[in-house]
Amino acid sequence: MAERLLVVEDSRAMAKVIGQLGKSLGYEVTIAASLAEVEAILQGEGGSDFFVATVDYSLPDAHDGEAIKCVLSHGIPSIVLTGHMDDVTRQKILAQPVVDYIPKENSQAFLYLKRVLHWQLTNKNNGILVVDDSLATRNHIAELLKRRNFSVYVANDGEKALEVLAERNNIKVVITDLEMPVIDGIELTNEIRKRYSRDKVSVIGISGATSGIHSARFIKNGADDFLRKPFCPEEFYCRVTQSIENLANIAQIQRAANTDYLTELPNRRAFIQFSEKKIASNIDDQVQYCLAMVDIDYFKQVNDNYGHEAGDNFLKLVALYMRKHLGGAMLARLGGEEFAVLMSGVDEDQLYSRLDDLRREISIAKMPCEGQQVATTVSIGVVFNGEKSLAAQMNQADQALYNAKENGRNQIAIAE
Ligand code: GH3
Ligand code: MG
Ligand code: MG
Ligand code: MG
Repeated sequence: MAERLLVVEDSRAMAKVIGQLGKSLGYEVTIAASLAEVEAILQGEGGSDFFVATVDYSLPDAHDGEAIKCVLSHGIPSIVLTGHMDDVTRQKILAQPVVDYIPKENSQAFLYLKRVLHWQLTNKNNGILVVDDSLATRNHIAELLKRRNFSVYVANDGEKALEVLAERNNIKVVITDLEMPVIDGIELTNEIRKRYSRDKVSVIGISGATSGIHSARFIKNGADDFLRKPFCPEEFYCRVTQSIENLANIAQIQRAANTDYLTELPNRRAFIQFSEKKIASNIDDQVQYCLAMVDIDYFKQVNDNYGHEAGDNFLKLVALYMRKHLGGAMLARLGGEEFAVLMSGVDEDQLYSRLDDLRREISIAKMPCEGQQVATTVSIGVVFNGEKSLAAQMNQADQALYNAKENGRNQIAIAE
């Protein structure tokens, strides 16, 4: 079900833009043009079940932020939009538990608003661990993070922090104080780096000390960033958001490097990385398994008859069939129209039948291709319970695949 966004804005043009922005992110949008309308909506049925609101600071019947108080009093996280921005207004806004405020005159305003609305939806997946021995600081930081909808965890010393980290695998950022009993912030950072790499968990050190030596020690021990207390909310959110976005960017690059862009199956590199380990553990644990090469028969003709784009769609369909019939196996597109399978199972017979089911299903399927129904087949070469290296087994499976082609295609050949 779509989350609901309340847009409080008296300018129709502005409300329309914000509404469209919300819809593009999947929100269900309600617009209110005055404080009176906001009150009517919030008092109506289901009035408070808004996920988030954008609130114009100044409305015809509420010139001085009264609408913000009203929306917040219903427990709705609020993003404030302001026309005029001076220090007094900023202080007034920040004195309330708002998600964020955005000056409207800024040309980046809508782009930024879109990011904030997006984070609000996705931050639940991002765990943040706050480590501080002071209850007041811990609560303050946790409260700031909760406004942004992060999943927040707290620990009052480094030892507890390591426990929480081990229990929760959704924690992306650790925000740690410097001076704490048992294990201090520097030692904690050091311990975190022994267990978690920088592309999985980010560490932000915090200290009230004025000397630069502390930020240096944090950084040298593996922290990614440092904040000096007291900090303003804008600076705090900026650091946290940057850490989260950095991790997301790295994860995306890693995914792209291991994925075939066309079929979205793992690529050759991912297959090799995974299979080398998996084969070793299969042999150690005496797990029955097979390594197979799957190649489309006469695929060149599909390209020649229907064009390259149709050929691409064909490859995607074959990948879909593989996913459907070989669930649980490691599947990859090695290149061109050649796929690889590493699959474990009960015994050779069962593994063979699963491969043969795939072969048969593809041979009786009609693939939609440029408005026509096109039939195709695949040939498969397979090695069962190989004990040689991955490279040697891939060669064996390739040789078997060649035999399957020679013998007339649309069949499985087992490596000698
Ligand atoms: P065989 O039964 O012997 O395997 O014959 P084949 O035609 O399938 O094999 P061949 O190796 O002669 O040709 C493979 C064709 O696959 C040639 C190439 O144009 C096409 N191909 C490779 N990669 C892609 C791709 O990413 N997209 C499309 N559309 N075609 C591709
Ligand atoms: Mg302390
Ligand atoms: Mg082929
Ligand atoms: Mg080929």
